[in-house]
Amino acid sequence: MGIGLKKKDVLLALIILCVIGFTVLIRTYIGGAGANRVVIKVNGAIQGVYSLAEDREIEINEGTNILKIKNGEADMVEADCPDQLCVNQKPVSLDHESLICLPNRVVVEVESKEESEYDAVTN
Ligand SMILES: [Zn+2]
Repeated sequence: MGIGLKKKDVLLALIILCVIGFTVLIRTYIGGAGANRVVIKVNGAIQGVYSLAEDREIEINEGTNILKIKNGEADMVEADCPDQLCVNQKPVSLDHESLICLPNRVVVEVESKEESEYDAVTN
């Protein structure tokens, strides 16, 4: 009886571990694919929407600004503006954080995946 209970406990622990592992996996996988994204606006018009889950470099405004997405963060790595304030800004990754380049009228804003306002643009 005692051994039986132990086996049950082990089995239960294994199941719990599996469920936890599975949840983490799903979260990493699906959550990663549908992670926060950045909306890039030039002069108030949406130029593009990009997922933060995919590492890439994006030319904004025909190359006046270069945005780099890496490890779930968006960072302005290059800009031809005189102040370079956007380049010096910290990378953004959280909902409603933004990178702004005033001289070039470029705004990069993070939005969470729950908002689907811009789906028509991406699709
Ligand atoms: Zn700038």
